[in-house]
Amino acid sequence: MNAWSMISRIARPALRVDQTLFPASCWVTGAPLTTDDNGLSAPVRHRLEKFGRWPFCLKCGMTMGPHAQSSGCPRCATRSITVRQLVRAGPLSGPLSSLIHQLKFQRRWGIAPILADWMAAAMRHWADGPVDMLIPIPLHPFRRWSRGFNQASELADGVGDRLAVPLGDVLRRRRATRPQTHTQSATARARNLAGAFGASAEFDLSGMNVWLVDDVCTTGATLHAAATALRALPPNRRPATISALVAAVADQTPIPD
Ligand SMILES: [Zn+2]
Repeated sequence: MNAWSMISRIARPALRVDQTLFPASCWVTGAPLTTDDNGLSAPVRHRLEKFGRWPFCLKCGMTMGPHAQSSGCPRCATRSITVRQLVRAGPLSGPLSSLIHQLKFQRRWGIAPILADWMAAAMRHWADGPVDMLIPIPLHPFRRWSRGFNQASELADGVGDRLAVPLGDVLRRRRATRPQTHTQSATARARNLAGAFGASAEFDLSGMNVWLVDDVCTTGATLHAAATALRALPPNRRPATISALVAAVADQTPIPD
């Protein structure tokens, strides 16, 4: 089978009733919206624009000072993220935290394309190389079934549309893992994820610059485990580079208003 023939859009869940029906109030503040606000009030959009342009470490996603060089930071020394570049739409705080929480735990599907807009904008601003394929981080089939959708696939699908980049359903969960929010340390998270992913050797990724896509990066253990699975592909199937795009990086460093 031609590997390219397997590259397909991830199947969308059937229950997408509010996908295009934005509320009459802001998803984040509840403020009434005027025409063409795309679900967010002006102050929220302003905040997200600031998030998207604020410098961060392009290795681990850590928020940097306003004039910092964004290629490596002190936190990198304690992380095991082994992607070439990490791009984010912002830190996991304020409106971004609210939107991701509502999408993931309150199943507000209409938020996925909004987040995809901001993630695509972040890619246009920060990505420093070609983007040949987006690879969503998969959920274990049971969690995918119980949640009803995989938020990473939804986000990757939206970003792929906006950047005209194909998706590759390359990764599989080999086993269920405990939710990362239930584990404490970076070491425990890495142990929880070790060997959790497998990559399909039916995809020929040779020479490609692939980007993993997920909603949140906390310690980087998930991205590291996924990248490890891609690097375990046979040499003639392995991608040239592996980078990552996330909606948000868990980060306590404040960004001023
Ligand atoms: Zn860093």
